Amino acid sequence: MSNKHECKAAVVTCMDFRLHGDNMGDFLKKEGVYGEADMICVAGGVLPLVAPDHEKNREFILKLLGISKNLHHIENIYLINHTDCGAYKSFGEMDSKTETDLHKSHLGEAEEVVKEQITKGTQIEITKVLAEISYPDDKLHVNFRKI
Ligand SMILES: [Zn+2]
Repeated sequence: MSNKHECKAAVVTCMDFRLHGDNMGDFLKKEGVYGEADMICVAGGVLPLVAPDHEKNREFILKLLGISKNLHHIENIYLINHTDCGAYKSFGEMDSKTETDLHKSHLGEAEEVVKEQITKGTQIEITKVLAEISYPDDKLHVNFRKI
């Protein structure tokens, strides 16, 4: 790790504990940014970036991304939503395809917001990820899938 006050990435994701620890750690290791990513964890992941009733949270996320960009000179922004998210319960019961489509659509909208507000005119890349939560054999499994 460099001793400069810089890092490789910023990650916008849900606060949900199931994503974190070894699950997020293994994903970030695979991406080569483990220990070198600013973590921005809020309920719903990118939901506050796209939902108008979360304006304060939207500003909060954009402010932190601005700090990552200007202070830490990040090269990548990861936008990570996940299935079975408590913040999405207000959208009602969804089958798995509907749920996946909603997250894909929100990740796409969030990407546009981040492009417009943060990465325009920079080389910063945006990576969209849906973390799929399942319980094979009653054990938590999280599959970080780039979309
Ligand atoms: Zn969540």
